[in-house]
Amino acid sequence: MGSTIFSKIISKEIPANIVFESDTVLAFKDINPQAPIHILIIPKIEIPTITDIKGSEHASLLADMFDAANQIAKQMEIAESGFRLVLNCGRDAGQEVYHLHMHLLGGRQMKWPPG
Ligand code: 5GP
Repeated sequence: MGSTIFSKIISKEIPANIVFESDTVLAFKDINPQAPIHILIIPKIEIPTITDIKGSEHASLLADMFDAANQIAKQMEIAESGFRLVLNCGRDAGQEVYHLHMHLLGGRQMKWPPG
């Protein structure tokens, strides 16, 4: 049973453009892309946000998310040109969906500082 839209994407109740799937991680195109390549990488278990992460419990899952990011970046041919990974936590960061997710953004020159 899931409480966010991402749980329904994991269970395939609602469609998404999936680019990567493993036993622990799902990745799909963001519905409102902020760059030519904008992928969301999520754990299949429900972790609402960064402050719910426990290193002792989730270390291997976090490694799986980074492995997925690298694999997708290679697949989409942005591993060499570069890309950005973003995790928003809470109100001030503008987090909208309370299911942990990593934004993988690429395919254009990024600016710093971010907005
Ligand atoms: P947040 O602001 O929480 O870090 O990012 C949530 C992201 O999820 C946003 O970039 C938003 O466009 C994306 N999103 C929200 N609902 C859906 C959906 O139903 N499908 C997909 N593919 N992306 C979604």
